[in-house]
Amino acid sequence: MTSARESAASRRTNQFPIPKTMRAWVLGGPEQLTLVEKPVPEPGSAEVLVRIDAIAVCATDIEIIKHGVPASIEGELPFNKNFTPGHEYMGTVVKLGPSVDEFQVGDRIAVEVHAGCGRCQRCREGMYTSCLNYGFHHKGHRANGFSTDGGFAEYAVNNINTMVHVPDDMPDEEATLIVTAGTAMYGLDVMGGIIAGEGVVVMGPGPIGLMGVGVAKALGAQPVILTGTRERRLEMGKRLGADAVVNVTNEDAVAAVQRITGGKGVQYVLECSGAPNALNEAAKMVNRGGRICLAAFPANPVPVDLAYLVRNNIYVFGIRGEGKSATHRAAALMAQKRFDAKMIHTHTFPLGEVPTAIKYARERIEDAIKVVVKMRQN
Ligand SMILES: [Zn+2]
Ligand SMILES: [Zn+2]
Repeated sequence: MTSARESAASRRTNQFPIPKTMRAWVLGGPEQLTLVEKPVPEPGSAEVLVRIDAIAVCATDIEIIKHGVPASIEGELPFNKNFTPGHEYMGTVVKLGPSVDEFQVGDRIAVEVHAGCGRCQRCREGMYTSCLNYGFHHKGHRANGFSTDGGFAEYAVNNINTMVHVPDDMPDEEATLIVTAGTAMYGLDVMGGIIAGEGVVVMGPGPIGLMGVGVAKALGAQPVILTGTRERRLEMGKRLGADAVVNVTNEDAVAAVQRITGGKGVQYVLECSGAPNALNEAAKMVNRGGRICLAAFPANPVPVDLAYLVRNNIYVFGIRGEGKSATHRAAALMAQKRFDAKMIHTHTFPLGEVPTAIKYARERIEDAIKVVVKMRQN
């Protein structure tokens, strides 16, 4: 990690020499990543150049590299467009675009993905992940690693509206998790409207689910129940604050939630498992009028008991990442050390080994959870 002293000294002496070209991974056809030399981009108005220090591999990166979607460049799939994927990164501000005074050269920052276009109805409502001009750069839209170049590279341009300061005592690897925690935060505080004392079930102990446990507890939810199949991850959920964990290979998840809540159920379910029957189970876990947020989904269409949802006035919604500045609130909780996010970081690789890092994340080699690519070893 860059120390506070290093940042301060660099700020004074402006010691961030910026090369003309940089190493960057680009997507050819599906599953084809190549390390190339690319020009270092120039920051425009309201933008800065970020020297990337670390980036985490996300399941969505794996999706994009294989299928293209949800990445979209001017309405087309991102293949053979010299496109650099990767979106869960952090780094150091090394150059300011015209008019930028919100950040200084030398600042350590983490980023959220979506800058949005800033001009459509959804962006104006703070729902920039649902930008109506998604993918159209000529309309001003940016979502790094989705519609504009991302972070499997040495540098990236970021709009200042996507950046949050990283405290000096937070390691680079941990700072890459701010955006993951931000997605969980958006699901909980914006979509869920969670208030202290409400019961929450988190289904699926992947990165968003585990961060969901930490964020829900930090927001005062009670009880927070985590369901899953992997004992080690459930154990991690406990250390992140879960009041109860349920291994669904041993016990029926709905029965367990009813047992733990004394038959009352919970107010909210954050579904992060993508299991085919998850929505039907979640409906039986919430009480009447309860809410269900879908942050994962099964590959194929699945039958849903709609009558049960309607009869019980159950709200269901899907989220596509963070929004409404949730990343800032997640960063604030992490800066206050309200939960230990870095627990879910399991593996680290250098920039030259991005395909290996992706393989570890995809195949969950050695029970990998968050695999981080670090640009400098120190
Ligand atoms: Zn992601
Ligand atoms: Zn927009």
